[in-house]
Amino acid sequence: MNKQKQEKMEPVIWESWQRSISYNIHPRKIEKLIAYSKEELERAIHENQKLLEIAEPYIQNMFAIVHDMKDIYINLLDKRCYTLKNWTGDEGEYILIEVGSHPGTCWKEKYRGTNGPGTAMYLNKPVLVKGWEHFCEMYHGIACLAAPIHDPKGDILAILNIAVAADEYNKGLWGMLLTGVRGIERELQHISHQYEMEALNQQLRESVKKERRLKKEVKEKAQLIEAIIDNMYEGLLICNTDGKYVLVNESAQDLLGANSNELVSAEIGYIGSLVVFKYENEKVVPIEEYLGNRVLKGETVENQVYIVEKGRSKRYIVANGTPILDEEGKMKYALLSCTDITKMKYNELAVKKQREFVGKVLDMLGVPMAVIRYPDLICEISNVKSTDLVNQLLGEKGNISNLVGKTVEEVVSIMQNQNFIEYMIQVGESRKEIFAKAELYAHSNQYYHFIFSPIFDKKNNVSHVAVTALDVSNEVNYNKKMEEMAKQKDDFFSIVSHELRSPAALINLATQMLLSTYYEKDLSDKARKLVHKIKQNSYRLLRLVNNFLDMAKIEEGFAHIEYTNVDIVQLTKAIIDSLQLFTLDKKIKLDLYTEVNKKIIAIDTDKYEKILLNLLSNAFKFTPSDRKITVHIHLVEKYIIISVEDQGIGISQEKVDKIFDRFVQVDSSFRRKNEGTGIGLSLVKILVEKMEGKIEVHSQVGKGSCFSVYLPDRRIQEEQGMTNYIKSSSEIAEIVNIEFADIYGE
Ligand code: ADP
Repeated sequence: MNKQKQEKMEPVIWESWQRSISYNIHPRKIEKLIAYSKEELERAIHENQKLLEIAEPYIQNMFAIVHDMKDIYINLLDKRCYTLKNWTGDEGEYILIEVGSHPGTCWKEKYRGTNGPGTAMYLNKPVLVKGWEHFCEMYHGIACLAAPIHDPKGDILAILNIAVAADEYNKGLWGMLLTGVRGIERELQHISHQYEMEALNQQLRESVKKERRLKKEVKEKAQLIEAIIDNMYEGLLICNTDGKYVLVNESAQDLLGANSNELVSAEIGYIGSLVVFKYENEKVVPIEEYLGNRVLKGETVENQVYIVEKGRSKRYIVANGTPILDEEGKMKYALLSCTDITKMKYNELAVKKQREFVGKVLDMLGVPMAVIRYPDLICEISNVKSTDLVNQLLGEKGNISNLVGKTVEEVVSIMQNQNFIEYMIQVGESRKEIFAKAELYAHSNQYYHFIFSPIFDKKNNVSHVAVTALDVSNEVNYNKKMEEMAKQKDDFFSIVSHELRSPAALINLATQMLLSTYYEKDLSDKARKLVHKIKQNSYRLLRLVNNFLDMAKIEEGFAHIEYTNVDIVQLTKAIIDSLQLFTLDKKIKLDLYTEVNKKIIAIDTDKYEKILLNLLSNAFKFTPSDRKITVHIHLVEKYIIISVEDQGIGISQEKVDKIFDRFVQVDSSFRRKNEGTGIGLSLVKILVEKMEGKIEVHSQVGKGSCFSVYLPDRRIQEEQGMTNYIKSSSEIAEIVNIEFADIYGE
């Protein structure tokens, strides 16, 4: 396209033409039609129905005006520039067919380059486009008069286009187009006003509806709240600043014994004429202290308990009051609420009474007792005695009037005895009773046993710990006294024994002399017998005295064990050999069975002699003639066991455990027959234990007894080497005589 051509063309056509080229539309090429599908067209017509209705009479009018024109057609395009409808004159049909413009075709610049509707849409103003001949030379000239139709908001709604043979174009057509467009726009505006009005009306209707709905909802909610308020267990009252009730729910009416009519608008003080308000301490509440009056003064009241009396009825209530302020913080209402706690209060009183009763019973028991809640360790029940005891234990700091409500921690921290807490925790954890042994409490100089017993709840959990204190001062003091007395007795025996030992030894010596060959011949048979008896009894006396002295020595801690390494087999044999006389005399067989021929261990030989002779003398004592006594030596693990087995009368099971206690004789009837003090076995046991051994007894009544002494298998380091058993036979005979003295009692 050259400059010449541009100069010849109207600028608007030139521009349109350029735009078409930029869209790759060649002026001389017939492009493919761009058009709506059938459905799209129907939708577009439907969307623009109102527009079509409005435009129709205008366009018909236009035709009436130009009725004499042949080559004219008018078309209405939608805002996307697609033809909605065509109106043609007689010859218009022909142009229409020629240019391919029928409903649904697109007349934007994509179709054959420029055209009126496309340009009007782009420029958004009415255009006159002449000179199609520049593009499509095969057609004769056509002039396009196109103008956008705006909706009331000013957006393009449609394009009205008049196409006319160029030679038929005249200015009147231009005016007709603009008038038509304006007319249509005005009508659209009018309609849109109507629409707006309609929409406004609709909005109004809807908001009225909404308001009604809201009102209904509010009403329903209010009814609901009213129902809730009325059905609330809690009494609710609201007073205004004049002190008048504006709301009293049913529970409140019930509590005050008046109906709503009576109360609403009545003044706060009016309630006083219906009921009497009292504080818990039965003091009448003055009107100015009525809950409503207090709240109206700005006070917030929490959990105030009142007694409400009406006639003979008496109720307990707990009341709360809160001021309700307006936005500026000024008092508006007093909101009062109250709950009937009569049942609870009566239960509480009953429990209190019960507790007091239990307390009285416990007081009468005369034993200090307290019940502690577990695990928080708070005292729930306590009797006077227990409070007294705690005060006694606290000494100067003790001024507790009642233990109930106090924590154990609180009390024991003054007492500085944490054991109490530990005992209670132990009871809670073990679920078992704990017995705390006597302890002396410095301040009180008394001894107590404490018993901590668990109390279980329904679920079988420990809920309480009952603590009982037993005053065992008398018992403890008595035992102490007894111990003291026993000691005194022992001391006495010890002294007496010392004093007796020398005369007994002298008597013994004298009798021995009398019975020696030198003097014996001068004695008559009777006298000899008597002297013999004296000798025998002097041995018994010596044995007794020796035993007492040994015992006393041990108890005073003077009995030292002098270990030497000895052959226990040889020693035992020697002791047994020294008893030949007795075996013959009593016609009892005495045998030794030993696992080993020699066994060297560390023992105190004197003590061992005593032990073995004691066991053997008992065996002889309680074994009838013609029976057997056997001594066994055997080794078991770390011990050498020496057992003395007899075929004597045996010891009953119940006595077996006691024979090692001091002064125990199994059968006192034997006392006369086989005199003894019951000290021998206890001494034996102590001596065995001193040598770090142990003693056991197995016995069967009527069959015999077996005493087994366990001595540890060990030696001591000795510089001189091993000691032999070096007592002379007369020395041994003397010991045997003493240890066996009881055998010839009579
Ligand atoms: P005592 O020093 O008076 O001899 P013991 O302590 O030796 O007393 O013995 C205590 C009691 O044990 C004896 O009185 C006797 O009843 C019983 N007893 C001890 N040994 C035997 C035994 N071998 N057979 C039956 N009873 C025995």
